[in-house]
Amino acid sequence: MKTHDIPTVTLNDGTRIPQLGFGTLNVQPDRTSTPANIDRTAAIVGLALELGYRHIDTAQSYGTERGVGKAIAASGIPRNELYVTSKLSNGNHGPDDVRRSFDQTLKNLGLEQIDLFLIHWPVPTLYGGDYISTWKAMTELVKGGRLRTAGVSNFQPEHLDRIVAATGVGPAVNQIEVHPYFNNDAARGASIRHGAAVEAHSPLGHGQGQLLDDAVLRRLAAARDKTRAQIVLRWHLQHGRIVFPKSVHRERMQENLKVFDFTLLPDEVSAIDALDRGEKGRVGPHPDTFAAIPEKEERSDEHART
Ligand code: NDP
Repeated sequence: MKTHDIPTVTLNDGTRIPQLGFGTLNVQPDRTSTPANIDRTAAIVGLALELGYRHIDTAQSYGTERGVGKAIAASGIPRNELYVTSKLSNGNHGPDDVRRSFDQTLKNLGLEQIDLFLIHWPVPTLYGGDYISTWKAMTELVKGGRLRTAGVSNFQPEHLDRIVAATGVGPAVNQIEVHPYFNNDAARGASIRHGAAVEAHSPLGHGQGQLLDDAVLRRLAAARDKTRAQIVLRWHLQHGRIVFPKSVHRERMQENLKVFDFTLLPDEVSAIDALDRGEKGRVGPHPDTFAAIPEKEERSDEHART
């Protein structure tokens, strides 16, 4: 798989993002940036780059920025062939901390500019409910030139409505939980209404529950001689979503890239759509109430799954 084989999605600011990338949540045993963790992430992300991934999703709170930066530096891949996303930690809302922590993110990644920076969670129960000044500061980073595109993550319809009403600027993407057991209709619909591309986090259901054992996915995969993960990723892509599955295994990383040589028929897509369990299918925390702030920017805690 070469970079040019991965289709791109054009965002509302005219920039283009590879539709498939590589996720780095939990590639380390914990979220600290110990030398061992940096080396582990660098090795895994380095392998992903070698296999053809060119879009990497990291976050301040994952503790993986430094390992991602090390892998990028070692890869020798021209910067303009890579797409790098990071996310503002829940502890860094507010304009001053947005700017300060963004500087640190660039340092961790060893880059002068990143492609996409997202408010990781709206945390509406913190900061007096003010994620608007945080969003304004994110958009100012774009004006400063060291960030190409600003977006949000885990924003519910009300959160999107508020930032757009207050600033007149809509996010280019909303990264939200979406997979066959949780279609997340409300947040997806609001994102599209506001012109934000939908990035599906936990596209394989975070590897939890029985999603990849589902009988419908088994049947569709067997009929096409594809794996269940490939069927699920193809379903996302055909719905126009951006995905970045995570795996620490070479075979799975390769498998997850091989999703551009077949097309699901409309009845196959509908069969997967019908697996939606509504709110019961959500595996991550609810954005209205999630408010975990890491003690330090990079640490391991009980919320290690977000
Ligand atoms: P995914 O839905 O990508 O699932 C990852 C799990 O599935 C892992 O346990 C992995 O195991 C397993 N897996 C991967 N590929 C295959 C395969 N081909 N066959 C079988 N099992 C497979 O979960 P994530 O939660 O990691 O989501 C992806 C990315 O989305 C994250 O890494 C992160 O970048 C982002 N994210 C963002 C969030 C946010 O709040 N904005 C929240 C959650 C995720 P193994 O590694 O052992 O192969």
